Amino acid sequence: MRGSYPGPQGKRKLRAQGNSRDGPAGGRISRMDGSPRAWRPSPLIRASLVLHAGAAGVTLLRPHWWPWTLSAVLADHLLLALSGLWPRSHLLGPNWTHLPPLAAGAGVATMPAAVAVTIDDGPEPQVTERVLEVLDAHGARATFFCIGERVERHPSIARAIVAAQHEIANHSYRHLKCFSLLGPRGVANEISRAQAVIAEATGEVARFFRAPAGLRNPFLEPALTRANLQLVSWTRRGFDTVSGSAGRVFGSLTRDLQGGDILLLHDGHAARTEAGAPVILEVLPRLLRALKAAQLAPITLRAALERTAAAPSAHSLASGATP
Ligand SMILES: [Zn+2]
Repeated sequence: MRGSYPGPQGKRKLRAQGNSRDGPAGGRISRMDGSPRAWRPSPLIRASLVLHAGAAGVTLLRPHWWPWTLSAVLADHLLLALSGLWPRSHLLGPNWTHLPPLAAGAGVATMPAAVAVTIDDGPEPQVTERVLEVLDAHGARATFFCIGERVERHPSIARAIVAAQHEIANHSYRHLKCFSLLGPRGVANEISRAQAVIAEATGEVARFFRAPAGLRNPFLEPALTRANLQLVSWTRRGFDTVSGSAGRVFGSLTRDLQGGDILLLHDGHAARTEAGAPVILEVLPRLLRALKAAQLAPITLRAALERTAAAPSAHSLASGATP
């Protein structure tokens, strides 16, 4: 371990680099220069807006058709709700479920194949520090999706994450179970408060957001664009908040493992093994050894963006393809 947690509060130079690129994960990769990007409604959102306008017009002209127009609107809301309950869905807007192909090393001989290890729900005293030790021992980099109010309580751990060259990302301020039921202002507040406390504690401006439990609603993407954040879900998760079996969690994470995968583990809310240890502490060393054996480099999500920007044929990325 690196001893005490260094890093002056709020004094680090904020990172800002690069420009926007067309992203491969269902939309544009958001700008890296800190300026807000424009919200572009997904096809489903556009269709919903048209349907609502049409239903309003039909109701004015043919009020007695109301059972049909109401049914159409309710069906649309059901579809939107189901899309939000499906964490890996691209229907509500851009959503990284894999690393962009160039960032993953696909087709670029000079880049090793890469994956992203993402760790949610911290900072968690006694756990996050040990996770950092494991990552350090394996020379691996990870992205920590931190809960804002936990960063407020444990700013030194948040600084330790950044000091060890890992990435800190936004996992909302309170990690509400009802996050997907919030209105536009509630969603925006959860994002901006977490963004503010992360910057205050570490000097870093988070570039990525993951919704609590991956559950969303149509108000999320407009709020993310204003905050210049890219939504990230995962390729595979270990269900390590409910399963204390290191073998089962490891098996879930490594099934069909390949370059470009985004893997999800938890330092906060971690299930305990039979021995009482947070399961991540048993799984992570095994996972990092498996990645090394498979010649997959664990990189941060920010590094994936930088790789995409640096790749010679970045401009040729297909903007609409979804991995
Ligand atoms: Zn979470």
